[in-house]
Amino acid sequence: MSESKQNYIDGEWSEASTGETFETTDPAAPSETVAEYQQSGEEDAEEAVAAAAAAQDEWAATPGPERGAILRETGSILESRKDELTELMTREEGKTHAEAGGEVQRAIDIFYYFAEKTRDLGGNVKAASGRRTNLYTVNQPVGVAALITPWNYPIAIPAWKVAPALAAGNTLALKPASVAAGTAVAIFEALDEAGLPDGVANIVTGPGSTVGDTLISHDDVDAVSFTGSSEVGEMVYSKATDDGKRVQTELGGKNPTVVSDTADVEEAAEIVAGGAFGVTGQACTAGSRAIVHTDVHDEFVERVVEEAEALEVGPGDEYDMGPQVTESELESSLEYIDIAGDEGATLETGGGRPEGERFEEGYYVEPTVFSDVEPHDRLAQEEVFGPVLAVLEVEDFEDGLHVANDVDYGLAASILTNDHTEAERFVDEIEAGVAKVNTATTGLELHVPFGGFKRSSSETWREQGDAGLDFYTIEKTVYDS
Ligand code: NAP
Repeated sequence: MSESKQNYIDGEWSEASTGETFETTDPAAPSETVAEYQQSGEEDAEEAVAAAAAAQDEWAATPGPERGAILRETGSILESRKDELTELMTREEGKTHAEAGGEVQRAIDIFYYFAEKTRDLGGNVKAASGRRTNLYTVNQPVGVAALITPWNYPIAIPAWKVAPALAAGNTLALKPASVAAGTAVAIFEALDEAGLPDGVANIVTGPGSTVGDTLISHDDVDAVSFTGSSEVGEMVYSKATDDGKRVQTELGGKNPTVVSDTADVEEAAEIVAGGAFGVTGQACTAGSRAIVHTDVHDEFVERVVEEAEALEVGPGDEYDMGPQVTESELESSLEYIDIAGDEGATLETGGGRPEGERFEEGYYVEPTVFSDVEPHDRLAQEEVFGPVLAVLEVEDFEDGLHVANDVDYGLAASILTNDHTEAERFVDEIEAGVAKVNTATTGLELHVPFGGFKRSSSETWREQGDAGLDFYTIEKTVYDS
């Protein structure tokens, strides 16, 4: 059964000006259509920006707690639809039920969190030189925000852009990823039901190259928040900053987990497998490189292979790891597996599509582990975005730290160690936006800043927590004598 979804522009559900639609399919059963969306064009994106621009002044003037009440109600509506949205995400994007349910809950929590933030949008009172002068700062919205999101967290990432943008008094137009747009559309259904005024939040589905490009290039857009690949994000960043817009880009990762000779190897293997194979390795924070001290390397490889082989691959709620999202993502993982073989890495387990009846149709790849990966091999340097773990052997902590930093990315990084000095030095010296000790590279709290170094992020701005609000606000200083 497939659903038909429309754009939401200026408070109305509407069809694309092109008259065209596109469909999404189930990655576990690609012959099944999940939903139909509008194949919008430039005109639709322009309409969305016009609606957001027209609604801006009034929304900015709406008292924070009133904006918060709408966000709280949105969270509550999403909560009442949690099971349905979990199922939709599993069918459209391929996450297991447990993973999809956790993500939907995160989106709900984000709306509740930023609803509370509207009671305190910052601002400071300062002592003035003049005796009867009130001197203070206020945080005002930036204006109209264009938001562009990827498929791999199809509701959480839209939520962590939409909620702070609205909390701070901005209006917006969102273009979600085409391959899994359903749960992003559900946010706008909830905003509509919650009573958001017309035009304040708009969603337009369609190709990034037309809809996305029109949004980021539009003169009436003041801020662009993009999450996706480094290739597209870097292009978006230079285009939008050249136009003088405020721009935030959250991009790819090649996240290291350094395993010390002091680590509990059994626990380390479990943590690394969770970080590498959770959400089928399709996380920007996936721990795709294990950098292991030579003294524990062989035992670690043996144990991480056991962890990989214990994972039951399949669809929905009975299995540990779902399919990849599309055929092209599947092909990309298989290509990296070939590349690793050509580079001389040793295939320890996996390395192909699983065999059996339930895998005949879906985009499944076996959890795969390669050892003997060299620091400058492509498998150690490039984001695979699939369940493929590269294990690199290092002589000592110094070597491990160097190898961990010796990539273009710097999103999340972890060290597994029982040596406090190693942990401290790692936290100080690792080039990553999120540094973790004795836990996986994946997994983030919603109330702390998230962003990367190097090619993982535009670095200037962070998302989530108070930092998530900063991007959507401008501080004004007021002298009132
Ligand atoms: P992507 O191909 O870069 O697409 C991201 C979004 O950009 C999609 O909505 C896409 O639209 C749109 N887009 C494509 N071309 C565009 C253009 N010329 N102008 C404007 N927008 C354009 O990334 P993805 O495959 O969806 O997501 C996976 C990537 O996201 C990985 O690299 C992952 O590491 C990264 N990611 C980063 C974070 C983080 O916070 N750092 C979080 C999650 C994911 P279409 O879908 O229509 O092509």
